[in-house]
Amino acid sequence: MDWKWIDPQMAEQGISLLRHLVEQGYEGYFVGGCVRDELMGRPVNDMDIATNATPEQVMALFEHTIPTGIAHGTITVIMNGEHFEVTTYRTESDYTDHRRPEQVQFVSDLYEDLRRRDFTMNAIARGIDGSYVDPFHGREDLEQGIIRCVGDPEERFEEDALRMLRGIRFSAVFDFTIEKATWQALLHRRSLISYIAAERIRVEMEKMIAGPHPFKGIRLLQESELVPYMKIQVPCPPKQPELLNRLADVPASPAALRWTLMIMALGLDSDRMKPYMKEWTFSNAFMDQVSRLLRMNDRLLTASAAGESLYEIYVSAVIDYGCEAALQWRQLYPVLPEQEQRQLAVAAQHAQEWLDGMSIFGLGDVQINGQEILAALQAKGGPWLGKLMNSILLAAATGQLDNEREAILEYARQRYEERED
Ligand code: ATP
Ligand code: MG
Repeated sequence: MDWKWIDPQMAEQGISLLRHLVEQGYEGYFVGGCVRDELMGRPVNDMDIATNATPEQVMALFEHTIPTGIAHGTITVIMNGEHFEVTTYRTESDYTDHRRPEQVQFVSDLYEDLRRRDFTMNAIARGIDGSYVDPFHGREDLEQGIIRCVGDPEERFEEDALRMLRGIRFSAVFDFTIEKATWQALLHRRSLISYIAAERIRVEMEKMIAGPHPFKGIRLLQESELVPYMKIQVPCPPKQPELLNRLADVPASPAALRWTLMIMALGLDSDRMKPYMKEWTFSNAFMDQVSRLLRMNDRLLTASAAGESLYEIYVSAVIDYGCEAALQWRQLYPVLPEQEQRQLAVAAQHAQEWLDGMSIFGLGDVQINGQEILAALQAKGGPWLGKLMNSILLAAATGQLDNEREAILEYARQRYEERED
């Protein structure tokens, strides 16, 4: 009866929500991901509820509600600060273009609601007393680690082609097997994935890559041959496929780590990855993180190949790409191609110490600004000033120059006299 894998506060509020529904003469069940995850012993983050009360009735029954998706029957109910999505039993129909349904019909029967769900493990309802409604034997499939469509898999994939990718994602994240008829139908209907918007694909891919077995997902994607039909482009075959096998060896968070490794495996650099990531609908902020990480690595590799001092290059890379990228680069290093690891071993060994030794990280930290330097030198601005400021920053960051007015002015004077432009 207890929920072991959920914040007790949330479980308590969820149960009192169901109790209120039942006391008012309605049905209410926990459904979907929360029931599945609890049965699997995985942390549950949110609790979805299904009821035969209409959205209007739900809004009338509870004090704090938000009509989140009222047209589809979903009301958010807030109980003591905890949010729950409460959805009226419904069926879906009129799937246009193999995507989400145009129409939903509210129904009075829980069975009908469970029947529209994608996989048996996602079609289990759990009542207030801990009893289950499990008409498709989802618990048995869960125990055996099987992903099976509810009903006829061909029909289910035809209705909503995203389910194919969800199936692969669940199989990868849980290390489950896709049941034979489900897999056959997936192969048979794979071209329908072309109807699915890039954003929905990206969301599934993100979950897959962040899970414990990302490589399994990639293998299934390859075997399914879904990728060539997707709206999003993927450069195939990957240039360094062996890197894909190492995804699980880097932390899943921040997500930029694994995605940077993916981009490297595909053989893209920070410029060439941008059109792809845009098409995949990644945010600019995320693209920027990946780009900094790629460029940090490239900068170090180029310097190492040219025999330059990795120390100065490292410090200048930290200045240009930020501490966050520097910390992430250290996490990425152990999975880089062996050749790159050898080239960058010194940087990886000393990165922490070098970073700790930096007391300034940007022009804003320099004790004197460009205007003040111009005034002191009685000089006119020009491109030389920007270069000078950067060299002051690097010299101060590497400890060759004290970050102190007089010392900096002295350094500036000398450089000004030696300048060429
Ligand atoms: P997670 O949140 O861990 O990704 P989930 O199963 O909770 O997994 P959601 O997308 O949150 O996935 O969906 C909640 C429930 O809604 C699912 O458990 C399933 O019952 C149903 N569902 C979601 N997407 C579909 C779909 N495309 N077709 C049919 N049912 C779906
Ligand atoms: Mg969910």
